[in-house]
Amino acid sequence: MTWCRSMRRRPGVGLAAPQIGIPLKIIVLEDIKEYIAQAPEEENKAQDRRPFDLLVILNPKLKKKGNKTALFFEGCLSVNGYSAMVERFLEVEVNGLGRDGKPIKVDACGWQARILQHECDHLEGTLYVDKMVKRTFRTVENLDLPLANGCPKQGVR
Ligand SMILES: [Zn+2]
Repeated sequence: MTWCRSMRRRPGVGLAAPQIGIPLKIIVLEDIKEYIAQAPEEENKAQDRRPFDLLVILNPKLKKKGNKTALFFEGCLSVNGYSAMVERFLEVEVNGLGRDGKPIKVDACGWQARILQHECDHLEGTLYVDKMVKRTFRTVENLDLPLANGCPKQGVR
């Protein structure tokens, strides 16, 4: 699929078809050692971020598993250069069709669960900025600056 290249070129860990003008419910996601190695190890651990192979999901249906959530900074290729904290479910299940048209089910937790929620939101026209903790919105250059007063702490809740 050529538009997996759009995701890799940026590079991002996920992309939804509407982001590149394709009006279909398709998401692609992938996280690899090389990207993960760019972040501090303790951050990856806190976010439960581990590599996984390319996933292509057609007509994904997302369901939360449990009520645990995690609050971390995330970004988006469609809101390039910015980041904000977003609360996401810690564990989700996604059912859909794979690139071969056969049913697939993905059980995800941690960072992969966050990516799936972010990408499925795109299919409904929702961006992370619609769900973010507004006072944490910042440029990526300012990512490490302290949080404003009254902001919740990052982590699993
Ligand atoms: Zn996005």
